[in-house]
Amino acid sequence: MAAPALAAEKDWNFGDGETPERWALKNSDYALCDAGLSQSPIDLGSANARGDIEVTTNFGVASGSLALADELVQVNFAPGQGKGMNSGGTAFNLLQVHFHTPSEHAVDGRRFPLTAHFVHATDGGRLGVLGVMFEEGEANEGLARILAAHGNGNGAPVTFDLDTMIPDDLSVYRYMGSLTTPPCSEGVNWHVADEPVEASAQQIATLREALGPTARSLQPLGKRLLVAPAE
Ligand SMILES: [Zn+2]
Repeated sequence: MAAPALAAEKDWNFGDGETPERWALKNSDYALCDAGLSQSPIDLGSANARGDIEVTTNFGVASGSLALADELVQVNFAPGQGKGMNSGGTAFNLLQVHFHTPSEHAVDGRRFPLTAHFVHATDGGRLGVLGVMFEEGEANEGLARILAAHGNGNGAPVTFDLDTMIPDDLSVYRYMGSLTTPPCSEGVNWHVADEPVEASAQQIATLREALGPTARSLQPLGKRLLVAPAE
């Protein structure tokens, strides 16, 4: 995921998604990217616990504006719309959604062609992300709105129904991780839906063209707890 704060000059890039990026070699401010023990993304197939995480979203129709940059397609939501998620009693306010091609998280080594990261923060500034994978199928209505606005360039307004981009029945993997982009800050409360939603081959291709390869290499789970949905 991208940091919510605006970066200065971008001095890093995604790699091939497999080779470690070694971002700390480019900028010592990124030391955590190479040295951190709670980094993202991870392979969700390595879950070491099972249980149903209580997570609900208050999404629906929302308005925002497009932020387009190198390796970035993002919608920044206008404040005050009351959108967000509640995870285990903690309220997270929705800030932005952005995309990666292919997905960053994997399941048993498999990556999906596209993922959306809904980035949230609590009032106290703790970050929480909801990740949703896309598989090829029917065209996605929310993505259609975003891609239509994409033609209007950076800053273009866009309004779409966020619920079209999450599974009807939301159950999630949960673990504590990091931003997947420099400075790779940790303490991010990750939720990844265990069921994909659909996007058309054309929609996936258009985003892949705009983003290029934008998945960070998989990071070791280490000693962290990774909870998979109960069976
Ligand atoms: Zn992301």
